[in-house]
Amino acid sequence: MKRVVSTAFVFALSLSVLWLACCGPRLDPEALKSEALAIHDRVLTVDTHCDTPMRLLRGEWNIGERHEPSDRGSGKVDLPRMAEGGLDAEFFAVFIGQGERMPEGYARAKERAMDMLDAIHRMCSDHPELVEMAVSPEDAYRLEKEGKRAAFIGMENGYPVGLDLSLVKEYYDRGIRYITLCHGGDNDICDSSTDSRNPEDNGLSEFGKEIVAECNRLGIMVDLSHASDKTFFDVLKVTTAPVIASHSSVRAICDHPRNLTDEMIKALAENGGVIQVCFVSSFVKKAKPNPKREKAMQALREKYGPRREIRDEALLEKMREEYMKIYDKYPQKRATVKELVNHIDHVVKLVGVDYVGIGTDFDGGGEVEGCSDVTELPNVTIELVRRGYTEEEIRKIWGGNLMRVFRKVIEVADKTQD
Ligand SMILES: [Zn+2]
Repeated sequence: MKRVVSTAFVFALSLSVLWLACCGPRLDPEALKSEALAIHDRVLTVDTHCDTPMRLLRGEWNIGERHEPSDRGSGKVDLPRMAEGGLDAEFFAVFIGQGERMPEGYARAKERAMDMLDAIHRMCSDHPELVEMAVSPEDAYRLEKEGKRAAFIGMENGYPVGLDLSLVKEYYDRGIRYITLCHGGDNDICDSSTDSRNPEDNGLSEFGKEIVAECNRLGIMVDLSHASDKTFFDVLKVTTAPVIASHSSVRAICDHPRNLTDEMIKALAENGGVIQVCFVSSFVKKAKPNPKREKAMQALREKYGPRREIRDEALLEKMREEYMKIYDKYPQKRATVKELVNHIDHVVKLVGVDYVGIGTDFDGGGEVEGCSDVTELPNVTIELVRRGYTEEEIRKIWGGNLMRVFRKVIEVADKTQD
C-alpha cells in the first residue's frame, strides 16, 4: 500500500513539475505581458538618443501634445507618448551635421547648437507639469518618483566646439552631459566610422585628446557612437572615466561600421562603459539589396548633392519628402523587436549584463517592427521577460548601467577638480 501511494505521489509530482515546465504561468502570454509591464513601470527607463529636438525647431509642432503614431509627421517622441510608453528619461540630442572646418562653419554650427539648446530648455519651461531638465542620475530618479519625464541633453557631434576648447564648458553649463565626438564625417576631434571621402582612419587628434580630458574634468560622458574604430581605441587609451556608445549595435550580428565589434565591446566593458543598442533597422539587420531603390536613391543624391551640405531648411524638407516617397515605393523589410533583443543577448553573453542599454535614435531613423515609436517601448521589456531576464537584469539594461557610468563620470570629474 505504502509503495502504491508513493508511486502515485511521485507520478502526481512529476505531472505537476511537467505542467509548470511547459504550461506554467511564465509561458502564458497574458501573464507574461502583465509581468513585463509591471517591471517596465517599476524600473527607471532611459533612452540615450533621440533626434526630436530637430522637430522642436519647427514652430508648428508641439511636443506637449499627443500625436497619433500612425499620422504622417507625428514623429516618434512627444511628452504624452513618453508617459504612455513608460519612458522616464530621454537624452535629447543637439545634433549638428558635419560641415566645413572653417571659421564660418564653426560659427554656424555653434549658432545652430545654441538654437537647439534654447528649444530644449523652452520645452521644459513650456511644460513644467510634464517634464523637467535633468543633469544627474539623482535628477532622473527623483523625477521618476514625481511622475515627470526627465530631459537630458547630449550633443551629437563635437563640431560646434570648433577649435575652441572653452566652449565645452559653455555647453556643459547649458546642460549637455554627453558629447558624441563626431557624426558622419571626420572633424577636428577625430575620424568618423562613415566618412567615405576620407577612408583612411587617423583616429583621435591631439585636439581630440584635449576634448576628452575636458569632458573627464567637467563630468561629460564621452560618446563613441559614430566614431571610427581607431578613434574608439584611441579614446579608451586616454580617458580617465568610462565612456558610452549612445546609439550603436553589434557588428558581429549586423556588419555595419556604425556598430561595435566584439573586441570593442570587450574593451568597453573593461573600461566600465556601456553600449546602448540602436533601433535603426539597417544596424540591427542587414538590409536585402534592392537595385531599384538604390537607383532611385542615387538619383536623389545626384539631384540634391550631399545632405550635410544643404543649409536651406525648406530644401532639406523637400529632400526628406522625396526620400520617404522612395521608401514608400520600395519598402524595406524592417528588423523586428526580437532581432533587436538578439543584440542585447549578444552583449550579455560576451561581457555580461552590466554593459548594455538602449539608445533608440527615434526621429533619427530608429524604428523596428513592433517598436516604431516611444509608445511601443514596453514591447522590448516583454521580449526580455520572455527570454528569461530577471527584473534586476532588466533594471540594469533599461537605465541602471547607464546611470552607473554617469555616476562614475561625475565622480572622476569631482576628483579631477579637487
Ligand atoms: Zn547618430
